[in-house]
Amino acid sequence: GLSERLQKVFSSLKGKGKLSEDDVRTVMREVRMALLEADVNFDVVKSFVKQVRERALGSEVMDSLTPSQQVIKIVDDELTKLMGDEAVPLNKSPHIPTIIMMVGLQGAGKTTTAGKLAKYLMANDNARPMFIAGDVYRPAAIEQLKVVGEQVGAPVYDEGTDKDPVDIVRNGLKQADENKNDYVIIDTAGRLEIDDKLMDELLHIKELAHPDEILFVADSMTGQVAAKVAHGFDEQLDITGVVLTKLDGDTRGGAALSIRSVTGKPIKFIGQGEKLDQLDVFHPDRMADRILGMGDMLTLIEKAQTDYDAKQAEDMAEKIRENSFDFNDFIDQMDQVQKMGPLDEIMKMIPGMANNPQLANVNIGEKDIDHLKAIVYSMTPKERENPDLLNPSRRRRIASGSGRNIQEVNRMIKQFKQSRDMMKQMSKGNMSGMDQMMGG
Ligand code: GDP
Ligand code: MG
Repeated sequence: GLSERLQKVFSSLKGKGKLSEDDVRTVMREVRMALLEADVNFDVVKSFVKQVRERALGSEVMDSLTPSQQVIKIVDDELTKLMGDEAVPLNKSPHIPTIIMMVGLQGAGKTTTAGKLAKYLMANDNARPMFIAGDVYRPAAIEQLKVVGEQVGAPVYDEGTDKDPVDIVRNGLKQADENKNDYVIIDTAGRLEIDDKLMDELLHIKELAHPDEILFVADSMTGQVAAKVAHGFDEQLDITGVVLTKLDGDTRGGAALSIRSVTGKPIKFIGQGEKLDQLDVFHPDRMADRILGMGDMLTLIEKAQTDYDAKQAEDMAEKIRENSFDFNDFIDQMDQVQKMGPLDEIMKMIPGMANNPQLANVNIGEKDIDHLKAIVYSMTPKERENPDLLNPSRRRRIASGSGRNIQEVNRMIKQFKQSRDMMKQMSKGNMSGMDQMMGG
């Protein structure tokens, strides 16, 4: 999928201290391929890649100590922008009822989404919605809406299959007025492709009902076809928003990325399952993170950027290279880590770690760090600078000074030496330990 592709692209940047223009070009070529393969609209890909490349070649990245993270962050920003930046709420009429018209191709998920929306509005807006059964071409369509109505506990207005949908909508709206329903959700027919008869019918319903919201329901599995069809519906009906369905499936992501820029209309909701509570407000930033497959990676990177001083990181890397990393540096690093927040929380933000069963056994709490620090503080300055001085009698003295037992002191010194060796190992790739972790 797209996420896997992009992750692979970015992992190729890992281990790079600085990026060359060539590196950026190569990465952007890969990103471009990944997006096209995910069935994102060609023009959208083209302008996206141009935008990212320009920013990536800027000084914020080229001079950075963590160029791969910077590039990922730019891609994430631009993906978010592409999908509209901010969540856009449903339109609401100043007087009741607010009228929502569902449009889209057959099988896109209009009827299901109508039910999900009713449920959502009832839960979040104390709504008393009514459905109008405007898909008169298949008896099963009316039955389906009635089942949905029953499930959510909202009435369905229908006149069977042999009336004109425009008349049904007119009569349905009258009924909603009498019953003081505050929302009316009009379910309409779809076709396997756009045709004039369908569009005429929808236009007539629109002219009669003056909907506050015309939601184009798009099947995300259809990739950029969804964007093309959305464009067609928008030209005719001037839609007000999009619902992307079936995002729970193995979708290639192209629809989410193309629709907004092709139509200029916001994606308002996403459907993530057949059940009526599987509807979510669309958040461009969260979708971008999801496409990048990063969990809360960006939150982590941002934390690291604000909390971890770049100059300090460079000094540290230098010390590791020179093999002069000592207990004083160890304390500095502990401080840095503690500033970032609880360790187990940090670990969870690393992709793949959130559900890692081993994490349950990793229990590095604040207290442990404080104990480690106490041990270091009980060393003399000479001992801190030169860990090899720590013979058994010095260790006993440190143990009693810090109030920790001798086993703990021994374990800590052993861990220190191991991590120093590990960092030495990592530094051969010209990276600090932090870089390595971030690139994880
Ligand atoms: P309509 O013809 O546009 O009214 O489409 P329907 O609402 O009848 O949906 C067509 C099929 O897609 C049905 O089997 C739905 O259960 C299914 N469906 C709708 N939305 C979703 C979704 O978000 N996820 C999944 N997995 N299936 C969905
Ligand atoms: Mg339907």
